[in-house]
Amino acid sequence: MNENNGNRTWRKDPSFWGTRFRLIQPNLRKIDAKGLDVRALMDEIAEWGANAVLVNGGGIVAWYPTDHPHQAVNEYLETDFVAEALEAAHERGMRVLVRMDVSKSYPQLLERHPDWFRRDAEGRVATHWEMLTTCPTGPFWEDYNFRVVEELLGRYPDIDGIFYNAFGYLRCYCERCKRLFKEATGYELPLREDWDDPAWRAFVRYRYDRHADYNRRLAEFIDRVSPGTVLTIDTHVTLDSSAFIRESGWYTPQFASANACITSEAFNFLDRPYPRWVYWAGEETKIGGHIAQTCIILSYSKTIYSRRAAQPAPQIGYDLMQIAANGGSPAVAFSGMFDQDDRQSLPMIRRVYTFLRDHEDEYAAMKPLADVAIVYSQRTADVYGRERPAERWQDHYRGMYEMLAHSHIPFTVLHEGSVTLEKLKTFKCVLLPNIAAMTDEEAALFDRYVEEGGHLICTFETGRYDETGRERPEPALRCIGRTVTGKLDDPYSYLVMRDKRWLEEYPETDLLLFTGPFLATAPRPDAAGPLAEDLFGVPSVRNTTPEFAYWETTEDMPGLTIHACGRGTAAYLPWGPDKLYRDLGVPECRSLVAGLVKRAAGELTAACDAPREVELQIAARGEGGYLIHLLNGVGARGGPLTETVPVSGVSVRVRGAVRSARSLVTGEACPVETDGEASVITVPRLELFDAIITE
Ligand SMILES: [Zn+2]
Repeated sequence: MNENNGNRTWRKDPSFWGTRFRLIQPNLRKIDAKGLDVRALMDEIAEWGANAVLVNGGGIVAWYPTDHPHQAVNEYLETDFVAEALEAAHERGMRVLVRMDVSKSYPQLLERHPDWFRRDAEGRVATHWEMLTTCPTGPFWEDYNFRVVEELLGRYPDIDGIFYNAFGYLRCYCERCKRLFKEATGYELPLREDWDDPAWRAFVRYRYDRHADYNRRLAEFIDRVSPGTVLTIDTHVTLDSSAFIRESGWYTPQFASANACITSEAFNFLDRPYPRWVYWAGEETKIGGHIAQTCIILSYSKTIYSRRAAQPAPQIGYDLMQIAANGGSPAVAFSGMFDQDDRQSLPMIRRVYTFLRDHEDEYAAMKPLADVAIVYSQRTADVYGRERPAERWQDHYRGMYEMLAHSHIPFTVLHEGSVTLEKLKTFKCVLLPNIAAMTDEEAALFDRYVEEGGHLICTFETGRYDETGRERPEPALRCIGRTVTGKLDDPYSYLVMRDKRWLEEYPETDLLLFTGPFLATAPRPDAAGPLAEDLFGVPSVRNTTPEFAYWETTEDMPGLTIHACGRGTAAYLPWGPDKLYRDLGVPECRSLVAGLVKRAAGELTAACDAPREVELQIAARGEGGYLIHLLNGVGARGGPLTETVPVSGVSVRVRGAVRSARSLVTGEACPVETDGEASVITVPRLELFDAIITE
């Protein structure tokens, strides 16, 4: 096989990147090159169950002998690492992505190439750590990068793909960047984020477009120089900070169209904000999966500044299984190789990777199932979220996600850029968590979805703004049957229910805690009467002296309306039950929304009685039957998951007749009972995760 490889018999296969591959990235430090045994490294990666590897290439530090003087060859390198890695990986049947990085370069190049580097508004070169960051329109990106890639692909035609690290279109105030922006939009490059400034709004759009264009040109160049070699880049589909995604110029659906797959980080560093968003890896997989095959890269490191300290084992196992259960491709990036200073989580990663390898056929063929979709709106985070996207938008969206996950409702997430009528019609119910900014076309699509039999649940200011963030005179969605007459700030202390059916899980309560803004609404003149109207406000009791905690009147403005529209329905909650759940964990909000979903969607594909922190994921197996995942996040308490709290006797109810069920983890059969049209599977004991197949 050695000889064959020398004779270039390796067959590149771009379609591989559309499969559920398993990738490991030994992100080598310069010093790791000393006495490096590449074959032994590749042996180990293959033994761990990976079928793809991401290796150091070039850009800042070259891991091969290069003719380009501005990428410094690693001084510890004793051989041609790229050549050896390709050969050894290919011998073991693994595909290879070669890592490039053009985000930064060396200070000593500034004098000769001042136009390579980014400038701040005062004209100073922008630095990162001890390096200079590069201008995304300058010769470094537009020429130098292409020459380096050309060299790599010319020398190593067997490279399966090029991966770019830190591939962000950062703001640059050099003369060229200013001129290009003015030519494209007519505006001066805005100096700061100001959402009232049309130049800023134009800049946000411009950067998404320009970066996607660069990415497309680079992908085309790579394929031209070395047909079949793909491009993929280091990105974030979602992040705690959506401002970072915007500042990097990533609008996922637009961006991903030129890449072989999405490669998105979910580096679950310990210094992320509390309470930790625990669904990140699965969430990015869900969103990405509607756009392209999605590979989520996890970091072995605890933080970026402590790269040699390991993630807690349960956390990384949980994250890996979120990716797999949602049909994604898992990846783990290590600082260095397997000879870690902190080895505590190596066995977990190896265990999950070999598990996924041993059941490769199941994972290759499975299709995630969802009765319900939540819409994710990057645009709303931008033009409506403005300076406070987390508080104004993301909390609504994340709260909605948590409510469905905690209710074990099979759901997925659609990026607004991947919404089509055809796609919407595959869901019984679609949720719009304060999707404030939408185009007329998108609104018409949702209206049509409802007219043709779909069910929509919208919260707060959904549809009240256009795509530029301008307030509309009327909400864009006709199907909700309401107009907005005003916005009340914290007007109520409670919402009281006239009909107890809205909170079936809490029959002993007549009201919901309320705080936050509330939209006053009135019937739309052209709308038919509502199917339901309820949840009326109790005016704020601001004097909370115990003797005064009562009320004598309630308002008549509904906090819930349901309208029929064509063959479907639209429920509208003109406040933020999603945000209240995220911020305060108000359990009745979850019960309310889950109840509305179940009322709209009817019998769900699956349900279970596990604790709320156990995620239920269901997929269709290739040959019929289900692949059911239970992911046990019990015990995270807002921080990282550091232990597994076993759960006993979980019942999973699935639609249809199931003859038998078996755990892929333990190999043991699970008891199955029939209940009418459904089947109930019992999982006797759940550790960190289980994967159950049914016949
Ligand atoms: Zn520039």
